[in-house]
Amino acid sequence: MSAQLILHAGKEKSLLRRHPWIFAGSVAELEGRARPGDTVEVVAGDGRYAGQVLAKAAWSPASQIRARVWSFDAAEVIDNAFFKRRVATAVARRAAFPELKGQDGLRLIHAESDGLPGVIADQYGDTVVVQLTSAGAEKWRDAIADALRKSTGCARIYDRSDSEVRAREGLEPHSGWLPGAGTGDADGGSRVVIDEYGVRMVVDVAIGHKTGFYLDQRENRLLLRGLAAGRRVLNCFCYTGGFSLQALAGGAREVISVDSSAPALALARDNLALNPQLDGTRAEWLAASVNEELRRRRDANETFDLIVLDPPKFAPSAAHVERASRAYKDINLNAFKLLAPGGLLMTYSCSGGIGLELFQQIVAGAALDARRDAAIVRRLQGAADHPVALSFPEGEYLKGLLVQVAP
Ligand code: SAH
Repeated sequence: MSAQLILHAGKEKSLLRRHPWIFAGSVAELEGRARPGDTVEVVAGDGRYAGQVLAKAAWSPASQIRARVWSFDAAEVIDNAFFKRRVATAVARRAAFPELKGQDGLRLIHAESDGLPGVIADQYGDTVVVQLTSAGAEKWRDAIADALRKSTGCARIYDRSDSEVRAREGLEPHSGWLPGAGTGDADGGSRVVIDEYGVRMVVDVAIGHKTGFYLDQRENRLLLRGLAAGRRVLNCFCYTGGFSLQALAGGAREVISVDSSAPALALARDNLALNPQLDGTRAEWLAASVNEELRRRRDANETFDLIVLDPPKFAPSAAHVERASRAYKDINLNAFKLLAPGGLLMTYSCSGGIGLELFQQIVAGAALDARRDAAIVRRLQGAADHPVALSFPEGEYLKGLLVQVAP
């Protein structure tokens, strides 16, 4: 019999709303024995639901999130077949969206929002990359990998479970090819080339950020492409040049791209070379700090017609919100100062701790201080393969605004 995690009185409320996390403070006791990652029954404490099994969850004794729900159906068995069903559902639901059809790079599993807490899976061509960040996901690695092979037909699965958040679950980093056919350097190594709207991009699944690429920005890169014609573009935090190359494809007059990472810029240059249809003479790559580069160009009275700000997560948790807000304001302020009349700013935050409302306030404050009249033209979010479960608002990390300054 599996162990039972008994909740304190009243602590079943979030579970009844189908929120998948059980925090340490909600747990009265664990009856029976469970090792990290084992499935436990979650049982309501005193009150209306006393003694009822409300969910099956993965036990994470090292984490503040003490358990993560696999299923809200008390009768559901958590076994290999469960993962096969969940993975197949996640892969199938993406087929409903025409914008995802035929994409070489696709997020297949978006963790909690696909009913699989701690599990990320991205497909790049014939390769799938998994990232497991919870004790429960770690325990079921083989089942998840098998299910992914069955659902996608891909034999090559690379494990990128090297994210820092694993430490909070008491897990060591793990990365490398999972056993199976067609893996390893003899078979093309860790570099995969994907096609994104006709632009070829190298994804290095072993060393790239996240699982190798920022798939969440795919649709926003397409939006940028449609706006780029004839414009002078500044792409800040360009990584491997995703926005930059789409801007060139859209007919930008000039694209200046800035990132502090030399390896990312090297890959960006490789990407440009992979796309001879693009006019590379219009592209300039700068290894620099965005903050300094913005200030330097502002002091030189330069102007741009279109600026992208896609910084890293400035606020990894709620504790960093104040400092992060200042950092977001700073770059947005300087970007506003650099915009030509009628120019566009595409600005993002991928900090879970900064909500849409706060982000909009920050951008509004930046426009005010820069003395620019500006209006939101579009609200931006992650692509359709990055759903946000309504019961899990924490899943909404990426938010963006397309803002136009007055002509
Ligand atoms: N827009 C990209 C993803 C950006 S990720 C895409 O669509 O693929 C954020 C990038 O910011 C990383 O490449 C990181 O190297 C870079 N970065 C982080 N801090 C920076 C700083 N202060 N100045 C310049 N680049 C920075």
